[in-house]
Amino acid sequence: MKQSKVFIPTMKEVPAGAEALSHRLLLKAGLIKQSTSGIYSYLPLATRVLNNLEAIIREEMESIDAVEILMPALQQAELWEESGRWGSYGAELMRLTDRHGREFALGPTHEEVVTSIVRDELKSYKQLPLTLFQIQSKYRDEKRPRFGLLRGREFIMKDAYSFHVDEESLDATYQDMYEAYKRIFSRSGINARPVLADSGAIGGNHTHEFMALSDIGEDTIVYSENSDYAANIEKAEVLYEPNEKHQPVEALAKIETPNVHTAQELADFLDRPLDEITKSMIFKVDGEFIMILVRGHHEINDVKLKSYFETDNIELATQSEIVNLLGANPGSLGPIFEKDIKIYADNALQDLNNIVVGANEDGYHLVNANVGRDFNVDAYGDFRFILEGEPLADGSGKAHFAEGIEVGQVFKLGTKYSEAMNATILDNQGKAKPLLMGCYGIGVSRTLSAIVEQNNDDNGIIWPKSVAPFDLHLITLNPKKDEQRELGDQLYASLKNSFDVLYDDRKERAGVKFNDADLIGLPVRVVIGKNAAEGIVEVKRRDTGESEDVHVDDLVDYAKALYEKVK
Ligand code: ATP
Ligand code: MG
Repeated sequence: MKQSKVFIPTMKEVPAGAEALSHRLLLKAGLIKQSTSGIYSYLPLATRVLNNLEAIIREEMESIDAVEILMPALQQAELWEESGRWGSYGAELMRLTDRHGREFALGPTHEEVVTSIVRDELKSYKQLPLTLFQIQSKYRDEKRPRFGLLRGREFIMKDAYSFHVDEESLDATYQDMYEAYKRIFSRSGINARPVLADSGAIGGNHTHEFMALSDIGEDTIVYSENSDYAANIEKAEVLYEPNEKHQPVEALAKIETPNVHTAQELADFLDRPLDEITKSMIFKVDGEFIMILVRGHHEINDVKLKSYFETDNIELATQSEIVNLLGANPGSLGPIFEKDIKIYADNALQDLNNIVVGANEDGYHLVNANVGRDFNVDAYGDFRFILEGEPLADGSGKAHFAEGIEVGQVFKLGTKYSEAMNATILDNQGKAKPLLMGCYGIGVSRTLSAIVEQNNDDNGIIWPKSVAPFDLHLITLNPKKDEQRELGDQLYASLKNSFDVLYDDRKERAGVKFNDADLIGLPVRVVIGKNAAEGIVEVKRRDTGESEDVHVDDLVDYAKALYEKVK
């Protein structure tokens, strides 16, 4: 295509507030245009990248017998009421009302719609397994849309749903998807790592997230340098290795602690290490108040609480609930009270004698509190985030941390939706059974941004050739000169047979053209400049920056060989 005909509004300065590198580069190279917060248009270059990415996804989905469909974005509330999510999905669901007062949602995901299709049309186990997928815009009213395409309110997702009569079949499709996802990301030029993730109240190891490693990532990955172990920090198990309690048990004493509200303030006030302080927090689990204890240097992980208590309905008690319950504010709580509140403690508390706790009286703490003598713990468990350097659950060594962008997720849903929505199938005994389901998502627009996040240099984007908007950038530095313009037209005609060519025929200054070419980042560049009369052009790789003067007679072969070498 001639660049004079393509719409590529490159920018010199990107708007302040574009924090993520990929966001800045996509704006700067003229790929996207913001409409309003979290909502973007994909301009011609981005559309071409999306098409390439989607082609890879379609190929890999078809290779595992997933079939493409397209479901409506507009979904009637009744379906969401059936699954129970009209109430539970919360503020992220974009809701609207039609002229008759009927309520709808703009689909953030499609479990309800796909289950309703399948329950009406699938009758026999002989039609299973079945995997359906689509590529479509999704809508989520994110609390903090940010980082451009990485967290949008309207974004493109590939979502797939599989249906099975038994666990073995679900396991097999899950594994197929897992492998297909690995191929999709590696073919797209993304370094993504599958990590164990939390499956919420369902429990078990039923889900993996695919994380593109990047400092801008909003998720922390815990991984091993000696094994394949990798888990989302929310999921990463803490191994409990008992340590001896050294100090002899001492007498409980109440001390005044004015203006002390946090564990750190308390540690400073007492001049004791933070890990000898105990934090006490009140949570409401399915409406019942409980207390959780962790050591001062540990953080409570509410995802682990949800899976321990097997419910999604867990929240921190509010300040007024706490004051009502224990007569003190959150900074002064402790486990010694005369109330019927169950106490759960993180495993690491078993190593500590003579702990410091709140007195349940504002401005006071208790020192030398001891389990068994002063209070009882109902149960110990793994309720906290792992720390870097702690031993990993698979025994392979120490925990290392990295940041990642979640580009995809595979999930065994089991019968969650089929039971709620009454989607059954007749098994080989003629008995009606709820369908087993899996769901599998890829954030297509997020992946586009993650590719840029991982493939760039100071001058711009470096597109992996599998997704690049064009293969080759042909540039005439000065099209006002006849010999350059004529050679450009001639080479454009011949290169087009072997490459997708972007031909910069614009009457712009050479500096502008070079800048734009670097920003846009196509794999191979051919520059027609001052040696045009001799039939010499410069050929350059975008990734390594290597360049060479090549005679036009050899150009097509040379460019082909060079293109082969590019990642
Ligand atoms: P996150 O934890 O980042 O909010 P999620 O786990 O809620 O994502 P899923 O429901 O698993 O997202 O959706 C499937 C995929 O869609 C995700 O793996 C991610 O790549 C993509 N995705 C989710 N939310 C967004 C968003 N707001 N903008 C762009 N892509 C998104
Ligand atoms: Mg997810």
